[in-house]
Amino acid sequence: MPTQGRSVPPNLQVGASKHILLSPEWLENTNHSCDPNVFFNTEASALLALRAIAPGDELCFFYPSTEWAMGEPFACRCGAATCLGHVAGASALTPQQLEGRRLTPYIQQRLAEAAAAKAATAEAAKAAEAAAPGGGGSG
Ligand SMILES: [Zn+2]
Repeated sequence: MPTQGRSVPPNLQVGASKHILLSPEWLENTNHSCDPNVFFNTEASALLALRAIAPGDELCFFYPSTEWAMGEPFACRCGAATCLGHVAGASALTPQQLEGRRLTPYIQQRLAEAAAAKAATAEAAKAAEAAAPGGGGSG
């Protein structure tokens, strides 16, 4: 069925190749906001309010809270003071941009893996530098 250019699949990523379907179906229409008012708790299969929601308010969640690398990144115009401008999944964000945000265990795990990989790469680069003859200065 037509999707009107939606950038997120009608399900949430909870593992490297594992997604869950949203139920009831209207949850599939939950839009992104960089200043979200709900969070999909994928462990408890619950929709969690992040702050007070008034009648008529649109429910919005932070797509990178569940999506690591989005297949269809998009320019965000949510208007929030903290708007990222470009939404492509948690993998594209800095630790500062993710600070204070509620993330699913899957995203937290991927972030930890990415941080470990980065640390290992830095460590390897340091070792290579130390092993290189006549390289660098000392301080
Ligand atoms: Zn935004």
